Amino acid sequence: MSAYMGKLLYVDLTSETIKDISLDPQLVENYVGGKGFGAKILYDLLPAKCDPLSPQNILMFMPGPLTGTLAPAMRGCVVTKSPLTGTFADSYFGGHFAQEIRFCGYDGIIVTGAAPEPSYLWVDDGKVEIRSAAGIWGLDTFSTVEKIRAELGDESVKTACIGPAGEKMVSFALINCEYNRHAGRAGTGAVMGSKNLKALVLRGSKAVTPADPDAFEKAVDQAYLEVAEDETAAGFNTFGTPASIDFANDEQLLPTNNYFDGSFEGADGLNAEAQSEQFWLRNVACAGCPIACGKVGMIKKGRRKGLITDVVEYETAAMIGSNLGISDVREVAYLVKKCDALGLDGMSAGGVAGFAIEAYREGIITKDDTGGQELNFGDSASVEYLLDKIAAREGLGNLLARGVKYASEEMGKGSDAYAVHVKGLESPAWGPRSVPGMALALATADRGGCHQRAFPILYEVGGEWNGEAVDRDALKGKGEIVAHLQNYLAALDTLVKCDFAAYSIKDSTYCQMLEAATGNQWNVDKLMQLGERIWNQVKLFNLREGFSRSDDTLPKRFTEEPLPAGPQEGKKITLQDLDQLLDEYYQVRGWDSSGEPSPEKLKELGLDNMPALVQVPAQ
Ligand code: SF4
Repeated sequence: MSAYMGKLLYVDLTSETIKDISLDPQLVENYVGGKGFGAKILYDLLPAKCDPLSPQNILMFMPGPLTGTLAPAMRGCVVTKSPLTGTFADSYFGGHFAQEIRFCGYDGIIVTGAAPEPSYLWVDDGKVEIRSAAGIWGLDTFSTVEKIRAELGDESVKTACIGPAGEKMVSFALINCEYNRHAGRAGTGAVMGSKNLKALVLRGSKAVTPADPDAFEKAVDQAYLEVAEDETAAGFNTFGTPASIDFANDEQLLPTNNYFDGSFEGADGLNAEAQSEQFWLRNVACAGCPIACGKVGMIKKGRRKGLITDVVEYETAAMIGSNLGISDVREVAYLVKKCDALGLDGMSAGGVAGFAIEAYREGIITKDDTGGQELNFGDSASVEYLLDKIAAREGLGNLLARGVKYASEEMGKGSDAYAVHVKGLESPAWGPRSVPGMALALATADRGGCHQRAFPILYEVGGEWNGEAVDRDALKGKGEIVAHLQNYLAALDTLVKCDFAAYSIKDSTYCQMLEAATGNQWNVDKLMQLGERIWNQVKLFNLREGFSRSDDTLPKRFTEEPLPAGPQEGKKITLQDLDQLLDEYYQVRGWDSSGEPSPEKLKELGLDNMPALVQVPAQ
């Protein structure tokens, strides 16, 4: 007995093949779950250089071995090849959907092919059907969930669905996993749309049983204790992620007017205090989470009065607020909810809108392109116009729907100066010009510019790492910090943990929970090696897709334009700085100077002759 359900659900929408795949013990031992399963299966099953929007692409919904147990704050991830970047993509979601996969009796769902007509997948406790989505195609995400629940006569079914943006394959479309939890980044919703798959709907009743229930209960108690005693967790509960607005603003990390600046004079209008005053009512939590960082609210005053909304997370408060010069959080809440309803990733949407507004200001986009609509920073009507056009892929919106990299390449005229992305993924809301470690983390993140693969800012600004002093401005030493964080988070993304809980729960406690749940022995060294194996497995995928050292880079905004004012004035990360950072980082990783893992490193990680561990089932 162990916390594994022992099988994956495989669905080919083209041939309507529905099969169970037994878990290979080697997959469990070497890749554990979540990101690990996704990385290995994508590498094994996807033909090299396959079009991400072709039926061949694979869309996976992966919980971890602790998801659906009593372990706190466990979630799920979607893994696929990104239509936005062409890289490996993993996108994480909270809520209750990932738990339901396990309650249906699966350790993951693999979807491939494309349905001839709009469809949804109905998994009722292990009984699987492909159903017509004719009645829900075209609906926004919220209406989709309501209608599915009404049709099935069950308010408790768990859903993952796309909105109009996903149906039209906008490259940064998201997958909505209930009210406001999303697999947001890297265009997972576009892949789902390309498969004519509107939703997955689950209802399960199976139990997830740890191998050693007594030891598991003890380890879970310890994890809860660590959360209860930790100030960071208390801060997430009280202030949510918007607490980071003040920190980022003070440290000049807050994207402002398409990252032109690192601090925003209207930051007070976006922070936790402003949100609390304007609309927060009570806390909400994902399944089994004691932190409960979500907030249900309703806007109390002004033209958005009565709008029901959740917390505006730091990333969207920054990308749709400060990055677009908007300081009224009620307007930001309205625009973020619009993104959620249309099924657009709010982070990328903020980056794309910032790009478009700046290109308009510089005369590269004109009123001829916008049908007379002005595009200005600080104007929510400009942003609303862009969101509608992008989701519908109309006019200028059709170009912007491919993201800033593609749009700037098509537009030319120097517009790449305003395209803030890494490998095609619009940058997250952490401007890295005064934090070289964060710059390196963004340049080397496996799915393009991402702050969730490593977040060295805490140590660069905090001035300490593992008991050693850290110089914020130094280049030297940052490679080791970034590689360590990437390995650790890749390991925890196999579980699949919530990032916010990982600040509180110790690595050894995660190991105790994993060991008691699975019956396999775990310690911190083994966990770190697992993370390194997965990081290298993903690297092998990205190398096979044609990515190289030249792609581990940063946009011109960060390499050529210094911060214009404030305590960090004049700072930027030049391409020479980046070269130095990469040289050290590749060396720490055991990769050659072109960024390829050495044969010795692959052997050390068991990747030199790892066989395919999942086979396509016979039809
Ligand atoms: S900390 Fe917040 S996002 Fe993370 S699992 Fe808990 S409620 Fe969900």
